[in-house]
Amino acid sequence: MRALVVEAPGQFGVQEVPKPSLREGCVLLRVKACGVCGSDFSRIFGRGAHRLPLVPGHEFSGVVEELAEGVDDKWQGKRVAVFPLIPCRRCAMCSVGEYAQCAAYDYLGSRSDGAFAEYVVVPTWNLLPIPDQVSFEEAAMMEPAAVALHALRLGGLTGGMSVIIFGAGPIGLLLAHWAKALGCTTICLVDIDPLRLDYAKCLGFFDLFDAREDGMVSRLLDKTGGGADLVIEGSGSSAAFEQTMQAARPFGTVVLMGNPLGEMRLSQQAYWAIMRKQLHVRGTWNSSYGESSHNDWATTLDFLATKKLCVCHLVTHRPTLEELPTLLKSVVAREVFTCKVMVLP
Ligand SMILES: [Zn+2]
Ligand SMILES: [Zn+2]
Repeated sequence: MRALVVEAPGQFGVQEVPKPSLREGCVLLRVKACGVCGSDFSRIFGRGAHRLPLVPGHEFSGVVEELAEGVDDKWQGKRVAVFPLIPCRRCAMCSVGEYAQCAAYDYLGSRSDGAFAEYVVVPTWNLLPIPDQVSFEEAAMMEPAAVALHALRLGGLTGGMSVIIFGAGPIGLLLAHWAKALGCTTICLVDIDPLRLDYAKCLGFFDLFDAREDGMVSRLLDKTGGGADLVIEGSGSSAAFEQTMQAARPFGTVVLMGNPLGEMRLSQQAYWAIMRKQLHVRGTWNSSYGESSHNDWATTLDFLATKKLCVCHLVTHRPTLEELPTLLKSVVAREVFTCKVMVLP
């Protein structure tokens, strides 16, 4: 089969490789769509890969083509989304359904080979059957959508709240779509990239703030009547981290979500803001799946199937596997604007 293989940082290409072999409890999935995540760029171009060589790609969907011995026939031919984290299901956190906290997990597209390929082997536990009205692209968007929902849930989001989102890339826009779907009235998006803000406007978000402009925080405070109920830091930049504390209302919540680009520093002023406003500051990681009490994947699938959440407009590029390396290089060289890149192998 063909797959995009990363040999070393920045050294990658589409190659002919053996089809992955079936293991106990697994199926062979023909990949139909696989999204490119921000984290894939550090796996491909930086030192973000857990092991090399690696086939990245963890946001995917497909059709079950072959079953390992003993796997229930009902899976044959099923259209599925995939939870890419494979927990040990034996440790303390697994035993309470907190799989993202597993002490010894595997991960498709990071610790094991993923879906920038024609085929991938997946345990049935990780498969989520999708109804006909959910497309393969939408199913491949379920991973980042569930991650976004998880962050909002941890932030205590309910209808009518005001939300400020730092970072208007794919995750920021998913957060904004969720906030809208869940009944938020004020949704502000902050970014330093005018192209991203323009794209957000095309998607119907109008409270847009360019973080490079003077007085941005006071305009956020004006818009939200003295600070937002919930502020999400989704950019990973120290400057935004600082501003999230200023932009939250007294007793408000700040959720930290963006992968840090480097050291994250907080001024004395911002530190005071946390104390004086008695902010709740908390982290979010991955999403909840399976038997856990808040199954973000089940909620995401429900919202997609009932068209309460629309994610397809985030996709700006649909390369084949062969076209992917060139596109990735031009994204890194900033020669092309992309929101979500969806590989259709
Ligand atoms: Zn991702
Ligand atoms: Zn575990």
